[in-house]
Amino acid sequence: MTETQRKPFKYEFFGPIGAAGVVLSTTLVSYGLYFMCNENGCPSWNLMSIWNDILQTKLFDWNAMVIYLCWFGMLALLWFLLPGKWVPGSPIDEKGTRLLYKMNGFKSMLVILFFMFGFIAVYGPQAMEFVWTYYVPLLTASYIFSVVLCTYCYLSSFVGRKQLAKGGVSGNAIYDWYIGRELNPRLGLFDLKVFCELRPGLILWVVFDIAFACHQIVQFGRITDSMVLVVLSHSWYVVDSLVNESAVLTTMDVTTDGFGYMLSFGDLVWVPFTYSLQARYLAFHPVDLGFWCLLGIVGLQLIGYSIFRGANGQKNKFRTNPNDSSVQHLKYIQTKRGTKLLTSGWWGIARHINYFGDWIMAWAWCLPTGFGSFIPYFYVAYFAVLLIHRDMRDEEKCQEKYGEDWNRYCKLVKWHIVPGVY
Ligand code: NDP
Repeated sequence: MTETQRKPFKYEFFGPIGAAGVVLSTTLVSYGLYFMCNENGCPSWNLMSIWNDILQTKLFDWNAMVIYLCWFGMLALLWFLLPGKWVPGSPIDEKGTRLLYKMNGFKSMLVILFFMFGFIAVYGPQAMEFVWTYYVPLLTASYIFSVVLCTYCYLSSFVGRKQLAKGGVSGNAIYDWYIGRELNPRLGLFDLKVFCELRPGLILWVVFDIAFACHQIVQFGRITDSMVLVVLSHSWYVVDSLVNESAVLTTMDVTTDGFGYMLSFGDLVWVPFTYSLQARYLAFHPVDLGFWCLLGIVGLQLIGYSIFRGANGQKNKFRTNPNDSSVQHLKYIQTKRGTKLLTSGWWGIARHINYFGDWIMAWAWCLPTGFGSFIPYFYVAYFAVLLIHRDMRDEEKCQEKYGEDWNRYCKLVKWHIVPGVY
């Protein structure tokens, strides 16, 4: 959409006030999870001691800023240097124009892990202690970077004729900065949004997990089964996202949302710092699960993963190659818009069965932390809210896109996320 084609505007997130509220609350939660849950206590309710902790902690440090800039720069360099297939994204206009994206995220992760494990092998687990030491300044550095990046994207969206996101052109600066005004901000062929979606934050999450496992070894002289399970489960999720990197091109984030605070902060700060909470907790609070608990949680992880990957893969295959033998037999609705909506297989069970699988995995990541504190379970609670809200947003957009066809689909597939419940 160009600036001259604006339609009457419909706010999400309760408009500018809601957007400002999300900015404030996500900032507080990011720091709050550290100050309320660290080696001094988890949960720590004593406001005086939290306040003292804040006063004694260095919130900003230039070393951390340099480390973060090197991190981001190194991943950008790997994007540039490593070979990768150029894949077309979804059409961005009525003429069917598609942007090309270089897919080499998994290779980038392998290079990072190769050097990191080499570093640990040579200097021992204490080599990763800088992550522990600079944790809060690193949080600040990535926070500053994410805000600068989305502000740059917001301002540059006014220069020239840019492809704008329908949801980010309200005219209210706070709201548009939050949602993202430009749909595909790029520096040449380097797509900032798709790069940030799967690399600097997601790979940093795994790096943090490994650093926290190293910290457990440094502190306690051993690594627990719970830590191994958490690190492997998180890594599996990240590897899966990177191996199936091109699947991101059909997600709502890429096709619909601009690159504002919501995605910049979410990708660069929220994912690595809050998603690694279970590993950070286990680093100072070791938990031994034992064989049967371990087996039960691995089982849960596998069930969640099968639903998550099964559903996402099925839709992807059906949309890209409907004649493939694995999806050929599936029932669907042919919509007036041209696309087909699956009504059997995974997508016949619930309209967002993929979210259900993802949420089951969230439980499998939190349960290894045991029952000593509810804070490491933050992810399960937050993720339920995110997925329900995301489901509502997607429903609204699909209703708009498909109209009567969507009503027909909803009659055939009644449940939103959890069959029989919601
Ligand atoms: P989906 O992958 O569920 O895609 C929704 C879109 O799929 C709809 O807008 C519609 O788009 C199409 N669609 C809907 N129903 C059907 C159907 N029956 N048949 C075919 N196509 C259909 O959405 P998300 O991008 O939200 O999620 C992708 C994955 O990412 C999920 O597994 C989710 O759990 C995960 N995720 C993880 C997060 C995290 O922080 N860990 C955050 C957000 C998501 P159209 O028809 O226009 O193509």
